[in-house]
Amino acid sequence: MSAVRTALVIGGGIGGTVTAMALARAGIEATVHEAYPGDADGVGAMLSLAPNGLAALRIVEAEEAVQAAGHPVPGVVLADGAGNQLSEFHGFPGLPATHAMARADLYRALTDHALARGVKIDYGKRLVAAEERPDAVTAVFADGSTASADVLIGADGIRSTVRTLIDPAAPGPEYAGVLGFGGLAAEDTVPAAPGTMYFAFGSSFIGYWRLPDGQLCWFASLPRTEPLSRAEVHRIPAEQWLAELRERYADHVPGAQLLAHTTPDTLMATGPVERMPSVPHWHRGRLVLVGDAVHAPSSSSGQGASLAIESAIELARCLRDLPDHAAFDAYERLRRGRVELIGGNAAATNRAKAGQAASPPTLPSPEQMFGPVHRHLIDWDATVSRAGQ
Ligand SMILES: Cc1cc2nc3c(=O)[nH]c(=O)nc-3n(C[C@H](O)[C@H](O)[C@H](O)COP(=O)(O)OP(=O)(O)OC[C@H]3O[C@@H](n4cnc5c(N)ncnc54)[C@H](O)[C@@H]3O)c2cc1C
Repeated sequence: MSAVRTALVIGGGIGGTVTAMALARAGIEATVHEAYPGDADGVGAMLSLAPNGLAALRIVEAEEAVQAAGHPVPGVVLADGAGNQLSEFHGFPGLPATHAMARADLYRALTDHALARGVKIDYGKRLVAAEERPDAVTAVFADGSTASADVLIGADGIRSTVRTLIDPAAPGPEYAGVLGFGGLAAEDTVPAAPGTMYFAFGSSFIGYWRLPDGQLCWFASLPRTEPLSRAEVHRIPAEQWLAELRERYADHVPGAQLLAHTTPDTLMATGPVERMPSVPHWHRGRLVLVGDAVHAPSSSSGQGASLAIESAIELARCLRDLPDHAAFDAYERLRRGRVELIGGNAAATNRAKAGQAASPPTLPSPEQMFGPVHRHLIDWDATVSRAGQ
């Protein structure tokens, strides 16, 4: 393989659209192939984009468009689930504020921005196979059509097809033992300063913050030994899940109040909480992975989308500067340590959420908890060396 000029990006989610924009900036022509007929599935959930994700978006000039799709939540308060505040943090000076938004709004903002910059997105193209030749790779889609380019980038999410094309023995997602839920509680349920995310641990965990309209948006989980699929979770009525959540959080402050003031029509069942264990092979031949396909850290980290964006930018930088397989090697060297460290920390938080730890294991300082994660900056103009620096 020599200098890369064209790329197939499989998956039009967060990582895929940013990869295509970053490749365009690197002078590489990319087309996104998305399985769904229209916009990618937003799953109705809320997510937060951290300062590091927003800083990476600046490189493809998407930071402002994405911020406009959400609202700033720079502060964090940790509490013990019995009504006692443990610590508070107001964000690092000089870094953009974490922004919360509906996942669907983030998809839309990124897609609109990518289309406006001339990125081609082909909908209804579900990748089923890839054929490599010495001079190119051809993607085969479920509708029988094909497309060829120099490289194929799997940005196809946590159930990635490209991951198994690279390595049929690749691990799949790991279930964290809890089902995720979110909902909206009435404005005056509990005090909560605007722009602050509250994490209340204890026998169970609940997180919440105030939306711009005053309502309180919360996220919580229920331990469940068997990993019900999202479809199975949705077959159970919201009233039943809400009753189960109220029972589990009956002694939790402020979980009990938040759940008591939530109506079933606002309940969002986000399905099993999952993360990707370490993936042995990030690339093979002309195929490479980005985002959740290779490093989903679970929603506990609040970093899945931000890390997918960082990796998308770094992959484009490597393909810009290194003409052959060295680009994929350098990309893996740049990214593996960081994403696996953050993924490992999220696994510990999941154990706390599953009730396997009474509170955050030991309470770290905000600098320890967020410093290296939030301050991460990608230097787009620096040339990548073969050693991945
Ligand atoms: C409930 C929940 C809450 C979350 N909260 C946060 C948060 O607060 N902060 C945060 O940073 N992250 C959060 N995340 C994680 C974040 O959503 C993901 O990390 C992020 O979406 C990963 O982006 P991605 O592009 O790799 O994958 P995705 O966004 O999942 O995109 C993958 C795309 O590939 C497409 N696709 C799949 N298979 C194929 C195929 N064979 N052919 C073509 N296309 C295909 C899919 O349709 C999809 O559009 C949360 C996730 C969940 C589920």
